Amino acid sequence: METQRLYYQAPSAEPFAAHILETRPYGDNAAVILDATVFYPEGGGQPGDRGTINGVGVLDVQEKNGEIFHIVNGDHWQELSPGPAELILDRRRRRDFTALHTAQHLLSGTILRMTGAPTVSMHLGDDICTIDVDTGEMPGETLIAVEEAAADAVEGNHPVIIHLCPPERVEDFPLRKVPPKGEDVIRVVEIQGNDFSPCCGTHLHTTGEIGMLRILGTEKYKGGNRISFIAGRRVLRDSRALRRNGEIISRALKVPVAETGAGVLALLERTALMERKLKTLEEEAALRRAEALIAGKPGMETQSGAGKVLVVCLDHTDMDEVLRIGRAAQRLSAAVLVFASSRDLKFAGLCSVKSLDIRPLLKGVMEKHGGKGGGGASFFQGQFSRAEDLAAFLQSRELFRN
Ligand SMILES: [Zn+2]
Repeated sequence: METQRLYYQAPSAEPFAAHILETRPYGDNAAVILDATVFYPEGGGQPGDRGTINGVGVLDVQEKNGEIFHIVNGDHWQELSPGPAELILDRRRRRDFTALHTAQHLLSGTILRMTGAPTVSMHLGDDICTIDVDTGEMPGETLIAVEEAAADAVEGNHPVIIHLCPPERVEDFPLRKVPPKGEDVIRVVEIQGNDFSPCCGTHLHTTGEIGMLRILGTEKYKGGNRISFIAGRRVLRDSRALRRNGEIISRALKVPVAETGAGVLALLERTALMERKLKTLEEEAALRRAEALIAGKPGMETQSGAGKVLVVCLDHTDMDEVLRIGRAAQRLSAAVLVFASSRDLKFAGLCSVKSLDIRPLLKGVMEKHGGKGGGGASFFQGQFSRAEDLAAFLQSRELFRN
């Protein structure tokens, strides 16, 4: 017995009374088959409905080989054994997707009429909806013109008419896309004055019910353009969220909401300037410290330090700063520099003499004391997990054997 499909004329009475004919395993879940259903099965780019059957949540609705499967969690066999069933449809979600689907027809029809570009695929998602349009060009001003034309059609409140037509008569309609093959009846959805499209989804009765259609943006996709949009209540929620966000930025920057974009850019410019100044000051401070460290170790300055090892361990200094000081010292001395941060338990080996490879010496001694690290001939970095290991490494006689 085939399920009677009542999802196009959503019933006014709720819960809707039906009968469970069969419940069968469906992967890890179970699939309920009913004598009649108000749940739309996924198809034509529109997701399946949600709701409950005898209080059990419907996770998805799918159609396969003419059968409609209401997919539920498999723990509910008892509530869903053959017999009477009460169906409650998630009407808000259905309304949402019905509005989006109708808006999609209007959008695709409007773009085709205004630019000649056909829609090749569409997706109605829980957050964003998209259509893929077969054109490489979709400038911003065209999208605004399309959005305005769609708004005109919404204000015009044009009827949405469903035509059920035998396949041989389908050419009576100027269809926007090719109808499906092998159907007994082709369902043609007309937006009066705008669009004719074969479609099995659910649609509003007039364009005015869409409320508003908003194009969010476009991106290049497979040689064409993917246009994202929202419609209906989603536009209201989106506007509310943007306003809330704008007000937070407005308060933080003390600029009007309409000027937050310019305010953020100005802030970023100031931040970049401060970062550049800070970097210069940090480099200068590092150079001063490096000079002082080297001055305190006679024989380390200039080229005379070649081959000697200078070990410096800085407390309360993070490894980034230690590295800055180490690099400044590297420019001043030819010695092998081993600079460590006792705070971070890290060290770096640096050497400005190109012919010298510091790796064998540092790697061997480091590993002997339980450190880990690596690097190149003139720059080596390592890390210890215990302070006493780092201290033992830095005091190791082997470091100074040359
Ligand atoms: Zn449709």
